[in-house]
Amino acid sequence: MTNKPFTPPCATGCAATQMELFAAPATAPAATEFDWDAHDVVIVGDSGGKDSGATVHEVCAQADKAGQLHKVRVLHCDLGRTDDGHLIEWPGALEVARVHAQQYGVPFAVRRSKRWGSLWERILSHGNWPGHFARYCTSDLKTAVGRDYVDEVGAELRLGRPVRAGYAMGMRAEESGARAAKPTLERHRMSGKGTLRVVTTWLPIHKLTTAQVWDLHRANGIAYHDAYTQQMRRLSCRACPLAHTDDLVRSAQLNPELFAEYAKAEVDMDRRFKKSISLREIIGRARN
Ligand code: SF4
Repeated sequence: MTNKPFTPPCATGCAATQMELFAAPATAPAATEFDWDAHDVVIVGDSGGKDSGATVHEVCAQADKAGQLHKVRVLHCDLGRTDDGHLIEWPGALEVARVHAQQYGVPFAVRRSKRWGSLWERILSHGNWPGHFARYCTSDLKTAVGRDYVDEVGAELRLGRPVRAGYAMGMRAEESGARAAKPTLERHRMSGKGTLRVVTTWLPIHKLTTAQVWDLHRANGIAYHDAYTQQMRRLSCRACPLAHTDDLVRSAQLNPELFAEYAKAEVDMDRRFKKSISLREIIGRARN
């Protein structure tokens, strides 16, 4: 972890992770500004990545201005370890997320899936890698965990009614056309009759460019992960089938043991890691 600012080479983010997390609307709130008075709590999903750091900053800055900082909490969804004991995420990502919360003096929580011991366990159970049309990694290990945390906070607040929660994420329009089409605020499908919650998805840094995200880090001393200084353009899982091949090759150079375990699973499951390239080929490129 480091506080030294720098400019990474591109705008790629954890598209897959953020895309599915609290993605679909039930009904869209009409307002374009987040209504602090209408919410009991605001949870910021923090993977430890740069967009998460900028999101925590934006949410806390706005909350402080509105006298509502007491409503903010930061949540890190822990994806666990492989069978050989390797962290699925980048080592230190959780600690960076913790520092983000500490910087603004808001509570920090780490939660895991109640059903799956790790993303690794989920992948092996599925018998195939996550993909664009099988985003079970985010739905089971992030969305479900976030939903449970909303319910946990709701129970803790003892409101006698469903909790009204904001859920802030670091999704940005610049990352893809699909993301650009997302509204800054929308009601999430987990809300509604018969549920314990009314959840508003909030994208506070939706309009920021990558350069502006790093500007925010520089101007505010926001912590970021060392992987960015190692030419990585994204964080979250160290080996993600949806990541750009160049990032995977670089990650394989930095995480050879983890990639060896993934490559063995690729053989055992007889399922190619990416359509365009296998893990064996990624590791081969990393060695060269
Ligand atoms: S494998 Fe990890 S990084 Fe990739 S989409 Fe799933 S949760 Fe996100």
